[in-house]
Amino acid sequence: MSESGFRALVAREEGGRQTLALETLTDADLPAADVTVAVEYSSFNYKDGLALAGRNRILRHYPIIPGIDFAGTVASSENPRFRPGERVVLTGFGVGENWSGGFAERARVKGEWLVTLPEGLDCRQAMAIGTAGFTAMLAVMALERHGLAKGGDVLVTGAAGGVGSIAVRLLSRRGYRVTALTGRAATERAFLEGLGATALLDRAAYQAPGKPLQAERWQGAVDTVGGTILANVLATTAYGGAVAACGLAGGADLPTSVFPFILRGAALLGIDSVQCPMTPREDAWRRLARELTAVDLAAVTEEIGLGDLPARAEAILAGRVRGRTVVNVRQ
Ligand code: NDP
Repeated sequence: MSESGFRALVAREEGGRQTLALETLTDADLPAADVTVAVEYSSFNYKDGLALAGRNRILRHYPIIPGIDFAGTVASSENPRFRPGERVVLTGFGVGENWSGGFAERARVKGEWLVTLPEGLDCRQAMAIGTAGFTAMLAVMALERHGLAKGGDVLVTGAAGGVGSIAVRLLSRRGYRVTALTGRAATERAFLEGLGATALLDRAAYQAPGKPLQAERWQGAVDTVGGTILANVLATTAYGGAVAACGLAGGADLPTSVFPFILRGAALLGIDSVQCPMTPREDAWRRLARELTAVDLAAVTEEIGLGDLPARAEAILAGRVRGRTVVNVRQ
């Protein structure tokens, strides 16, 4: 990789259709901002799947380099907070949506979006966490702020996916009894139990519309799926419990009623990782570095190269990706 030419996956619009191709770019092709980063790893998130498939208008203009997160080394900086050689991580702020992102060997972004990599994490591990793991930590922090009782019963939906698998690991490590709701119990039982899930619940149990109030089971939940499943999670949340809603892998609607809120005092906590302010953002990364081991991260991670990205988009949208995918941008 050199400043005069680096590899990038570029999305363009041709004849009204989105195209994707690996191209050689120069720094002049990157947006103007104060910090240029030599990217080592990006990661593959559900939103990247939507972006590469041209769905949900994730990519807001063309040409653009997709990739909503990355970790690497500062190559040059006009920002006093960052010096060349420092390792940084970026998630969110519209990068990979309306600003060129991580599926490239270089990126240029605003320094105010960057987090210094916390002690104990290298770039690959930071992207094994990535946007999904960062979001899982925000969800855990929100549940704990709400007062989740130590050792309580917690449900994680979409458990074998990126956000879900890291949420299961974080919650089980902190001593909660974690039930993993999954559509892949037949193939992912060992994976989920290895992350500390004490029980698996088949997705089918929560897929059909149910009564607004059902038997109380969960003191807390992390929901990555939305739709009817989230409605059923709310209906089974125990008195005073809370659900951290962070995803829509099963649908963007929420067919529920006010009963869980007004009869059981249940709380629905919204989780947004994109615009999350810097103080909780840095707190979350410090906690991730402390609470996840290298072994934890290796257990949930698969590595791909830039050329593998389009196929990975199909796989993640079909719900076939296990855990986290790191993208080695030099491959
Ligand atoms: P993944 O694809 O890795 O995980 C999603 C999981 O949801 C799948 O593995 C599957 O788990 C389950 N699932 C998939 N399709 C369906 C379906 N039709 N019905 C029910 N369950 C389904 O994605 P990520 O973990 O990267 O992201 C999860 C969600 O969180 C996405 O909607 C994403 O957009 C959102 N997200 C939101 C963020 C925020 O800031 N709020 C940040 C990051 C992600 P299993 O096979 O175990 O059932």
